[in-house]
Amino acid sequence: MDSIEFDRRHIWHPYTSMKDPLPAYEVASADGVRLKLEDGRELIDGMSSWWAVIHGYNNPVLNQVLSAQAQKMSHVMFGGITHKPAVELARLLISITPAPLERIFFCDSGSVSVEVALKMAFQYWMARGIKGKDRILSFRNGYHGDTFGAMSVCDPVNGMHEIFSGVLPKHLFADAPKARFDEEPSAEELQNLEALMESHKEEIAAVIIEPVVQGAGGMRIYSPLFLKKLRELCDRYGFLLIFDEIATNFGRTGKLFALEHPEVTPDILCLGKALTGGYMTMAATLATGEVADTISAGNPPNFMHGPTFMGNPLACSVALASTMMLLDSPWEARVQRIEKGLKAGLTPLADLPQVADVRVLGAIGVVELTNPVDMAVTQARFVERGVWVRPFGKLVYVMPPFIMEPEDLKTVTDVMGDVIRLEGE
Ligand SMILES: *Cc1c(COP(=O)(O)O)cnc(C)c1O
Repeated sequence: MDSIEFDRRHIWHPYTSMKDPLPAYEVASADGVRLKLEDGRELIDGMSSWWAVIHGYNNPVLNQVLSAQAQKMSHVMFGGITHKPAVELARLLISITPAPLERIFFCDSGSVSVEVALKMAFQYWMARGIKGKDRILSFRNGYHGDTFGAMSVCDPVNGMHEIFSGVLPKHLFADAPKARFDEEPSAEELQNLEALMESHKEEIAAVIIEPVVQGAGGMRIYSPLFLKKLRELCDRYGFLLIFDEIATNFGRTGKLFALEHPEVTPDILCLGKALTGGYMTMAATLATGEVADTISAGNPPNFMHGPTFMGNPLACSVALASTMMLLDSPWEARVQRIEKGLKAGLTPLADLPQVADVRVLGAIGVVELTNPVDMAVTQARFVERGVWVRPFGKLVYVMPPFIMEPEDLKTVTDVMGDVIRLEGE
């Protein structure tokens, strides 16, 4: 049995069935913005392996850092032990995020960093001796990960976890922010949000939201002013505010962090995906001194979390190198160039009858269709044309590596156009 057939029969892939799944494409290697398939074909990668590979694949600097760290120590437990890669990474992340965020918890994946954020919020209120704060206010179309706590704050209907609603805690859901990026939120949408907060003010421990861009729950881009208002409301009601920047962090939206668009600081911040440049699984949860000190003044004073691979030295060292490389690079100009290319390539598609909406922000381009794509057909069409784009439902979207050259980006948007035109037939 060849690899692809063995894979098809025995290995689960993200959100797939084991009953007659579509065959996966076997990638042999990847370099720069190209994936190389076992059969020799090359694909220009429009996905950055789900937001992560911002510097492209097989980056010589990151490769070197990783192998040098492996020579020293690939892993060591974090209980009672620390090391330079963790300390230097913490220093850097604390210095580039807003000043009140000064304590950091390293975790193994984005979902876990959301679990940690929720746990911090609940433990904060327990430490203050305030009872009944046992719910989170989240937003429709939100996506925060696949573990149970994270699932419980994803969109309750289209969040891919609807079947679990019976076994998940019942949190509260406000409507997704409506005003688009350059619009002002309407009085009505703010009043609805406030009314929901008012009627549950005793129960709400924290509000969680993906700032400016809602990712896997709909690829929606909304007004930064909404977040300013949200911060004001959280302050008025005394709710903690959690920003999940796992998708938007490290330059993707044109700012280093999406929270810089409204200049709003959350109490807790989740980072992930592009944190290691796509080299290793790693995430981090940052908290303000106030949150951390309150938890630490409680009984127990310990924050009750500690994964086996917490602060993994390989992941920390490659995250440190990736972030420094980003900061030393002309990333703003690169992201702006990609934004221009995405706007030029994708905006004209809005006139097609099969297209409902086109949205571009930073290095994110989204074409929302009127009907879901047929994955078997659409995926193959992209691959035949030498481009890796993985649509999802009605969404055909890209978030290319920042190093993508204009010619390659043009190929990506041209192929998106070709494939989307065929959807009409
Ligand atoms: C991907 C993602 C997560 C989950 O991260 P994993 O590393 O897949 O567990 C959480 N929140 C947002 C906004 C994401 O995009």
